[in-house]
Amino acid sequence: MVSQTLNEIYQLLFDRFGPQHWWPGDTQFEIIIGAILTQNTNWTNVEKAITNLKAADCLSPEKLYQLDITRLAELIRPAGYFNIKAKRLKSFLNWLFENYDGRLSNLESLDTVRLRDELLAIKGVGRETADSILLYAFGRPIFVVDAYTARVTVRHGLIEPGADYEQLRELFQLNLPEDVQLFNEYHALLVKVGKEFCRPKARCPGCPLEKLPHTVEIEYF
Ligand code: SF4
Repeated sequence: MVSQTLNEIYQLLFDRFGPQHWWPGDTQFEIIIGAILTQNTNWTNVEKAITNLKAADCLSPEKLYQLDITRLAELIRPAGYFNIKAKRLKSFLNWLFENYDGRLSNLESLDTVRLRDELLAIKGVGRETADSILLYAFGRPIFVVDAYTARVTVRHGLIEPGADYEQLRELFQLNLPEDVQLFNEYHALLVKVGKEFCRPKARCPGCPLEKLPHTVEIEYF
């Protein structure tokens, strides 16, 4: 039943919005940097920060690792919280260089649970960031959860209000086939419907999920 509803939601969203082509980024490293920079800001600001890093010829693990943290903070200023985010980027790079010789390719042989645990142990890398890196940079079958995921699933009676990150992640992972491309597209489609319709104050008329049972009594941030 849950799995049928999840499939139905996916199909309705895909039929309306089509492929979302996530995650924007030319390289695996750029996707990781984007996932760290996108915390608490919108993607347009992240793009500006990444453009600065590219213009300064710094968008590689070696160059970013060697870059002075003050200069790094200046370059990523458009992404907001730039001092904090510069520290987070440095924490990621320190972990990569101290443990894996600075090579992303050395992470490929780690199993998903171990890689996730190691990413989560890096200061400033939370669940959503770690899972975005796992799914979009490493192609691991991990479902990425965010506020949009919570809003849509609670309002459609798939999970109780107040469900935590891991409960939401399991809702998808236990009820859908373990399919990287499906997880990739599904998360992006939930972001799309969350931005356009399932906002803190829901705009159900015209939403692709309007015909499915739902309640919007609960308002979300
Ligand atoms: S806006 Fe309404 S119909 Fe659309 S996903 Fe949210 S609750 Fe469902």
